[in-house]
Amino acid sequence: MSKELELASKYFPGGVNSPVRAFKSVGCEPPFIKSAYGSRVIDTNDIEYIDYVGTWGPAILGHAEESVIEAVRRKALDGLSFGAPTMVETELAQLICDAFPVIQKMRFVSSGTEATMSAVRLARGFTNRPYIIKCDGGYHGHGDSLLVSAGSGVATLAIPGCPGIPESIASNTLVVPFNDLEAVKKVFETHKDKIAAMIVEPVCGNMGVVNPKDGYLQGLRKLCDDNKALLIFDEVMTGFRGCYGGVSKITEVTPDLTTLGKVVGGGMPLAVYGGRADIMSMIAPDGPVYQAGTLSGNPIAVAAGIATLKKLKSDHTFYLKLLSTSEKLEKGLLNAAREEGIKIQSNRYGAMMTIFFTDSPVTDYESAKKSDTQMFTKWFKGMLKRKIYLPPSQFEAMFISGAHTEADLEKTIYMAKETFKEIKNN
Ligand SMILES: *Cc1c(COP(=O)(O)O)cnc(C)c1O
Repeated sequence: MSKELELASKYFPGGVNSPVRAFKSVGCEPPFIKSAYGSRVIDTNDIEYIDYVGTWGPAILGHAEESVIEAVRRKALDGLSFGAPTMVETELAQLICDAFPVIQKMRFVSSGTEATMSAVRLARGFTNRPYIIKCDGGYHGHGDSLLVSAGSGVATLAIPGCPGIPESIASNTLVVPFNDLEAVKKVFETHKDKIAAMIVEPVCGNMGVVNPKDGYLQGLRKLCDDNKALLIFDEVMTGFRGCYGGVSKITEVTPDLTTLGKVVGGGMPLAVYGGRADIMSMIAPDGPVYQAGTLSGNPIAVAAGIATLKKLKSDHTFYLKLLSTSEKLEKGLLNAAREEGIKIQSNRYGAMMTIFFTDSPVTDYESAKKSDTQMFTKWFKGMLKRKIYLPPSQFEAMFISGAHTEADLEKTIYMAKETFKEIKNN
């Protein structure tokens, strides 16, 4: 064991503060990162990697982007936290409303988990109904109600449910396969007038990337309307990933509530839940649904968010370039695999992508699980050895940023080819 991991393991379970960082599912040890810039992360041995984790999404501009760092530095001089309203919060809210017309009113929190947990509480409070629907393999943070059949980290570690969540809570969560409207319809019929909301990643990112089939999101909207239930889009990962806005903007499907995180905080702890003003007015102090936070809307985090969104907004070709980079990388990886006779599937939404080691299409969690995770492990290790830092799980997305250069792509594709060759010959 590396001396870093050995020491950290004395203090933290698995030596880490979030399970996927421990690299358990790929059977190796994580590098400890000391700094990052642009498309690169650098470990404690001064090894520099081309990074496709992007701090799990937030680093869409690349690491340590100048205007974001400067905004944080400047803001920090005014004091770190006041526990009182500030004008910068309103400034960020205006930027968010402009990007997400489906959000009329919102609240800032500190993590995606807090955002989804609060959105679910609000949906239950607003409808006065107990049940929620989520998708098998959908991840909405680790709140008790939402950690049922929760994909990614949980899937990677093969934890069936999660000890510590009472049956009385878990039983209020109804699970359906993604992309299956018929299943949602049945659940609504079985639990008539009892379902508060359906929460869904409009493009899944936590079973690996899985896109919705044509008409799926529209179908969910209609089923929720027919049953007077709320539709919650969890855009913590997809928000600002494929466009300056979310999947709701691209598909023109209007959720009642939306959750955001990751990019919106520019690498600082900030997340958002919001939506219809009449629903949001149920939140305290306007209404009876309680939710609060000592560090919510923290001015430094808000400053990082504002700087990130302003940068994204001011560069009118940012998303065009980002999508073209992502497409190039996808094509390059698919070609490299084909040339070496390795069967893979790629699913992509904007600048998030998963390479699945299977020859059948991946449309839900069941089909994602058909992927050959041993092949994935070889792929991951082969790439890490070649200084390409990928998410250490088959069931995660890799993230491309605006800082990835043509040269980065060429190197990545070359190393992918070398890795596929190595896999084939073993
Ligand atoms: C990352 C993520 C969350 C949880 O956010 P945290 O900030 O890690 O708590 C929730 N939902 C989705 C879709 C996510 O990708």
